[in-house]
Amino acid sequence: MIKIIGTLAIFGGLAFAGLGAIFIIAGGSDNMLVGGILVGIGLILFLAVYMMVRADAKRPTHVTQNIQMSGSGEFREKAIQCPGCGGNVAEKDIKLIDGGLMLTCPFCGKVSALEEQPKW
Ligand SMILES: [Zn+2]
Repeated sequence: MIKIIGTLAIFGGLAFAGLGAIFIIAGGSDNMLVGGILVGIGLILFLAVYMMVRADAKRPTHVTQNIQMSGSGEFREKAIQCPGCGGNVAEKDIKLIDGGLMLTCPFCGKVSALEEQPKW
């Protein structure tokens, strides 16, 4: 949405600035004034786009990561237990935070990193 408005404003700014330049080139005191105003409008439009893009860039980008839990099937077969209280934790209590699997226990509220268990 912001890109469409930005593109329109840039084209509008170009049109105003171009028209203003023609008036200035044509010369004459009246034309110079009209040309100056038109170029001014064009510059304001460019400035508005610049401010809009800057405000947009400040917004945090939300990154969604999808993880598949059923890779080898071991997650499903073996119940994941809370290291704090030993309660069985469901898949919905596991979240991916900073690239690591974090387990939030629904029973005791303990948050712990989920590490892959050694196979032996
Ligand atoms: Zn627990």
